[in-house]
Amino acid sequence: MRAFRAVGGTPRFMVSGTGPYLTDADGREYVDLVCSWGPMILGHAHPEVTAAVQEAVARGTSFGTPGEGEVALAEEIVARIEPVEQVRLVSSGTEATMSAIRLARGFTGRAKVVKFAGCYHGHVDALLAAAGSGVATFGLPDTPGVTGAQAGDTIVLPYNDLDAVRAAFAAQPGEIACVITEASPGNMGVVPPSDGFNAGLKEICAANGALYISDEVMTGFRTSRAGWYGIDGVRPDLMTFGKVMGGGFPAAAFGGRADVMAHLAPAGPVYQAGTLSGNPVATAAGLAQLRLLDDAAYAKIDAVSAELRSLVGEAFTKEGVAHTVSAASNMFSVFFTDEPVRDYEDAKKQEAFRFTAFFHSMLEQGVYLPPSAFESWFVSTSHDERAIERIAAALPAAARAASEATA
Ligand code: PLP
Repeated sequence: MRAFRAVGGTPRFMVSGTGPYLTDADGREYVDLVCSWGPMILGHAHPEVTAAVQEAVARGTSFGTPGEGEVALAEEIVARIEPVEQVRLVSSGTEATMSAIRLARGFTGRAKVVKFAGCYHGHVDALLAAAGSGVATFGLPDTPGVTGAQAGDTIVLPYNDLDAVRAAFAAQPGEIACVITEASPGNMGVVPPSDGFNAGLKEICAANGALYISDEVMTGFRTSRAGWYGIDGVRPDLMTFGKVMGGGFPAAAFGGRADVMAHLAPAGPVYQAGTLSGNPVATAAGLAQLRLLDDAAYAKIDAVSAELRSLVGEAFTKEGVAHTVSAASNMFSVFFTDEPVRDYEDAKKQEAFRFTAFFHSMLEQGVYLPPSAFESWFVSTSHDERAIERIAAALPAAARAASEATA
């Protein structure tokens, strides 16, 4: 993504960030709508987060022992997200999903994992499986380096399709360890779950002795105080977190039901460990950021997102560009189609070439968007009126570029 493969051109090398702005190596300033792919929810170099990091660094950067910072961060997570009875800290979202799946397999004694096409859970071998057509497609490796054996127990299903999930369980009774889903997907563009989808997953898993794993690496602590769980209230067996909870540092987590977490080493037999897990600098950054994320902060982020969505929609409508601004709480993205987008196949039908023209026009005018039509846009509490005005000023020419683009 950061190589600009999807949109072409030379990626911008950023050297500093303050609030909603990034500055590149040539001294050009951009309003940032990527926010490091989600983590920088208070904007760049927030003074209180920076101070917490500086204090932590001065005390020493890694001890390889239990520490107060990791306990405080764990307590903050447990206090916010009721289904998380116990939590384990790791260093990346990938590690969180990988470990959650291992735990689900260890707990159930089953091998197979259901995931959905278009949902990204990091670069876990077993989860880099391509989508296929049909009801239940056995995963084929999506990338060289992942063997058939590693992806062979992965079942890839179309998103938002409960019948496909029921059919997969019926075809493989007693074999599926877990269903993992993005709580509300943001990695095929923003495609929220349809009404009852997550609740249906939970119900099907419970009826079949499988675990329901909600991946909140992207939505966690962003879409509300309690992430997507705070919005749909569907209680997962296990959850995964990353991004916002690290305050711009490598910190991530997985957690959930205490009886399931009890199977994790050292209390139980399922191995998991990490040299830098619960790192004191990362946990200080994450804790400082989470403590600043009160109701007022979420109200601000929601308001910024709503204002931008309407500005973006108006600009495309004015130029007659077919589009859908798709939102899940304050996460949003634009699909260049006016057909409904419910899954990855729908998302791929959009006129993505229009995004390329739109993206480059915005970039030239000093607005940094995610360099792909299949990614969420992220805003922060630091996006003030000045930043929004700069985006608004860039939109008309960029929407025109999108309307004039050809495939
Ligand atoms: N899960 C989701 C939903 C994600 O969006 C991502 C990353 O974008 C990951 C997992 C992987 O996290 P990381 O990049 O920290 O390994």
